[in-house]
Order: sequence, then structure tokens, then C-alpha cells
Amino acid sequence: MYQPSEKARGIIEGIEGFVREEIRPLEQREGLSWAEPHPRQVLQQVWQRSCELGYYNIMLPETIGGAGLSVADLCAVKEATVLTGSMLAPHILGELSGPPRIGHLFKVASPVQVETILQPICKAQKAVCFALTESEAGSDAAAIQTRARLEGDHYVLNGGKRFISGAPYADIAVLLAVTGPGTGAQNISAFFVDLKAPGVRIESDYSVMSGGGAHGDIFLDEVRVPVTHRIGEEGQGFKLAMGRITLNRLLHCPTLLGLAGLALNLSIDYARTRKQFGQPIAMFQSINHMIADMATELHAARSMVYATAAVNDSGGDIRTQAPMCKLFVSETAFRIADRAVQIHGGAGLLRGHPVEWIFRATRMMRILTGTSEIQRNTIAKGVLMPA
Ligand SMILES: Cc1cc2nc3c(=O)[nH]c(=O)nc-3n(C[C@H](O)[C@H](O)[C@H](O)COP(=O)(O)OP(=O)(O)OC[C@H]3O[C@@H](n4cnc5c(N)ncnc54)[C@H](O)[C@@H]3O)c2cc1C
Repeated sequence: MYQPSEKARGIIEGIEGFVREEIRPLEQREGLSWAEPHPRQVLQQVWQRSCELGYYNIMLPETIGGAGLSVADLCAVKEATVLTGSMLAPHILGELSGPPRIGHLFKVASPVQVETILQPICKAQKAVCFALTESEAGSDAAAIQTRARLEGDHYVLNGGKRFISGAPYADIAVLLAVTGPGTGAQNISAFFVDLKAPGVRIESDYSVMSGGGAHGDIFLDEVRVPVTHRIGEEGQGFKLAMGRITLNRLLHCPTLLGLAGLALNLSIDYARTRKQFGQPIAMFQSINHMIADMATELHAARSMVYATAAVNDSGGDIRTQAPMCKLFVSETAFRIADRAVQIHGGAGLLRGHPVEWIFRATRMMRILTGTSEIQRNTIAKGVLMPA
């Protein structure tokens, strides 16, 4: 089984200490719960402190201020961060606001964009979201209709984006819009859009399964975006957004491994301590077999993720293996979470209990960032028509 490098182990120990000494007390002071949205001002504190301690930018290459970790080490750091059990874990690595969302843009961004947009994001001064999905363009992402028409030194944007993570608290969106004459991938460009600009409206009056507050829709009505805020060339936006899709599919997996590991650990503790019929419920074979199945499936999922990361790190092609990981790990994590709820009995059904939240969060990941069906489409293509 994969062992993280010394550097990654040092980072993991540092993050565990940060969670123990600062994040947990913050969660308690602010009365945060798994069931309620977390206020932007609390998230801002986590982003800034994580940045000061050097964790916020860890996922970036060394040349732009990151830790320069291998993909396998990145997986280990992400998994361990979630395994701390902190409800603020994704924010430590800036996953919903910061560097992991924009690292790949440094290569194409202009020097002014780097200075005025990317660097403030890496310094946790500004938060960013990624806006592609629309009401009529979900899995078929290239079918977006939001348009950007060129008028002098500005583009004028009209349209709407749906289900955007982080939109309610983001300052900037990396937003995809059609600039070409028709629609389709080759007509799509990417922009940095200031979400405080006139004509931008964020609506977040719905709550998704994992809880409210973190997702929203972005509406654009004659929004003027300077030409200098276009990212790369016209027509390159879709390629830019999809360029890292393979790696991103793999990098979603350690979060799921962490959630599943947390569900397993909580179940082991509960099964050992909860007594019924005069004995710990772990003594009942039906319970300990569920735990055996959870541990076995988690081992299979972990093995798959770290083996695929190793193939990637040695320069191999993971175009078929990465969607296999996203499919298998998200479906497995949900089965593990389901058993965790079962082992906890009624306690696991209470809104705000960690296993209840993990159940809802893992259910979402079979749909988010490419549904299981879309992963199967890519896998089938790779298996039936290898490059
Ligand atoms: C909480 C949340 C957060 C999100 N965050 C973001 C974000 O930050 N940025 C962003 O841009 N988007 C985001 N999304 C959008 C997300 O990526 C899409 O919801 C997802 O890609 C699926 O699109 P859809 O919901 O329109 O479903 P649809 O595409 O309408 O799919 C409906 C069903 O049809 C199936 N289906 C569709 N096409 C095919 C096909 N070709 N073959 C087989 N089956 C198919 C799907 O698998 C699914 O079962 C988010 C969504 C949610 C709910």
C-alpha cells in the first residue's frame, strides 16, 4: 500500500495539529454544525490562517508557491485532511474558494491577471468559483447558452449559471460563455467575472442535500467584462475548463476516501461502545460483518486510487482509469456511508450527526463533477475504442 513521502507526512501532521489546536476550537466557538451553512466570515478566517501556515496553496506546483507534491501525495494529504473529521476540512486546502480551482490558469493568464486576480486568490484575499453548468446544459456542458458579445474593449454577458459551488460567498467567477457565432465547445471562451459588478445577481434560495448556503445560481444581465479579463484566446475556454478533467476525476476520490474512512471509524467506535441486550453491538455478527464489508470495500477503493495516482506520477495514461476511480469510489463511499447510518441506528438519522451528513454528502458525489453514467460512458469508450 502507498506510503506518503516524508514531505507529505510532515504536511499531514501539520494539518492534523492545525485542526486540533485551531479549527476545532473555532468550530466550537462559532457553534458550527454539519447541518447549517457556515458564515463567510468564519470561512475567511480559515482560508487566511491556512494561508499563513502554508496549507492553502499546497495543491499548486512549487513554481507558483505550492508544495510541488506528486499526485499520490496530494491524494494522501486530501484524504488525511478529511479524516481529521473537521467540517471545515475542504476550506483548509481552499477547495471551494481558492488555489485548487485556478492553479492550471497560471499558464494562460496574463501578467496583469496573475497580479490582480490569481495572486489575491492564492493569498486568500478573494474567493473564486467555477461557473459552467446551466439549466439546459448539465452533463452536456458544451451546450451552454450564456453569451458574451464584444463591444469595443468590453464583452457584454447575458445568461444564467446553475448549481455553482461557492457562488454565494465568491468574489470572482471563472465563467464560461459563448463568444463564437454558433454554440458548441469551439465557440466557448472563459472569463474572470467580478461577481459584484452591475448586472450580476446571485440567487441561493435553495438547499441541496448536504445542506444550504454553499451553492447558488448566477444571473448575468448586460454585465460588462473588460476584454483583459478573458482567459486565454477566444474559443479556448472549454478546452481550458476540460483540460484537467482526467486528473480532477482522480483528485475527487481522496475526499470520498476520507469521508468513507470517517464513516468507518465512527462506526467502529459506536459498535464498540453502544450496548444492547447486555453487550456491545459489535458482538452481533450482523454488525461486525457490516464493518468487515466497509473495511474491505474501503481497502479496494484506496488501492485503486493510489495505484492510479502512481501510474499518473510515472507518466502513464489514466484517461480510462481516472473515471473508473470516480465511479467506483463514489459508489463505494455511499454504500459505506449507508452501512454507517445502519450501525448507528436512530442516532445516525439525526440531522447534524456526522454519519447522517456523510450519507448525504456521498450521495451527492455520484452526481457532482460528472455523474456515474457519464463516467461509464468515458470508461466504455476507453475500453471499447482504446486510443
Ligand atoms: C450541489 C451541486 C454543486 C455543483 N457545483 C458546480 C460548480 O461549482 N460548477 C459547475 O459548473 N457546475 C456545478 N454543478 C453542476 C453539476 O456538475 C451537474 O449537476 C452535473 O454535471 C449533472 O448535470 P445535471 O444536473 O444537469 O443532470 P443531467 O445532465 O440532466 O442528467 C440527468 C440524468 O441523465 C443522465 N445522463 C445525461 N446525459 C447522459 C448520457 N449521455 N448518457 C447517460 N446518461 C446521461 C445523468 O447521468 C443523470 O442521471 C453542481 C451541481 C450540484 C447539484
